[in-house]
Amino acid sequence: MTTHVRSLPIPPPPMHGETIGSYLHRLADANHTTVTTLAVVLGHGRRYQRADDTTDGWPPEALPRLAALTSRTIPALLHALPALRALDTTNPDIPPGSEQHHVIRLACRLCAARLGIHNLVLRRTADHEHLCPSHRRWLTGSDQLDVSPLPDVLRAHRHHHRIQRRHGRRGTSPAYPEAARLTLQWFRTSSPPELHHRWNQRLAALPTEPFGDPHRPSDQRVELATYPESVILTSLLTSTHWRHHDRLPAEASRRLGIPHHDLTADLPPKNSTSMRKRPPTSQRTCPMPGHDHPDEHDPWEERNTPAGAAKTTHGQAPAGFPSNLSESRSQLDHQP
Ligand SMILES: [Zn+2]
Repeated sequence: MTTHVRSLPIPPPPMHGETIGSYLHRLADANHTTVTTLAVVLGHGRRYQRADDTTDGWPPEALPRLAALTSRTIPALLHALPALRALDTTNPDIPPGSEQHHVIRLACRLCAARLGIHNLVLRRTADHEHLCPSHRRWLTGSDQLDVSPLPDVLRAHRHHHRIQRRHGRRGTSPAYPEAARLTLQWFRTSSPPELHHRWNQRLAALPTEPFGDPHRPSDQRVELATYPESVILTSLLTSTHWRHHDRLPAEASRRLGIPHHDLTADLPPKNSTSMRKRPPTSQRTCPMPGHDHPDEHDPWEERNTPAGAAKTTHGQAPAGFPSNLSESRSQLDHQP
């Protein structure tokens, strides 16, 4: 029954993909009440943090009550707040948005401001949505840095999107964190030197970190500065052809535009169990004449990676390569 539920005096609009906790907190803040009070009105009694995004425990009448509270239609709420779709009995075939959007990030402040929203919004995003393409703001972390001076990062974001489209979330999602972990490790150890120089140039183009150590940028800034190279590695680690190929280090070096003897970390990370195994040798040959890596031809990379369009012969893995990933991870976890 919803007849006794009056609309709130100030019902701010939800943002697309917003978590239920974020929206309830904004409703409560705007109307000088508490999330607990709203929970009583909705009839579920849950205590929500802003990142919470579940309707577990909601009675059937909670959804129409939320619509009455916010002066919005149920379809409008279902469209904006993906987790509510679990309550929608009229469209059982529509999957909850959370199945495609797993990462909860701060919404772009400029996108929010365009809707008249000036406080904190958390929303579900796809794994690769590291930046707002409209406003060129980096969304991983709280600074929301302007990446306009870093065209490499913008191009890499589009490349990351294409990888995700091609391989799907199951293929791509384990690869990017592995790649980002490797590039962070390389940054902290100043190796390879060509990449370190490139990353420092990108860091120098960013606004100063007001309370940060100028000699030790935060991991979030390093992730941004190394993002183009992380995406290049992601494309290789996602590939069934390259991931366990003997020449993976040489191919990675070629795409990164560095001498392959400078690559001194594990590729691929050996302890990963989330990635696909290398197919048998009998399945590795491309049916196309002269092309033995069918899932790796990427015109974008040929045009945009430092290796450019230069068609180098794939070299052999350097002597002593690779070393032990557990050592690498241990070093990464114990950086001073
Ligand atoms: Zn934006």
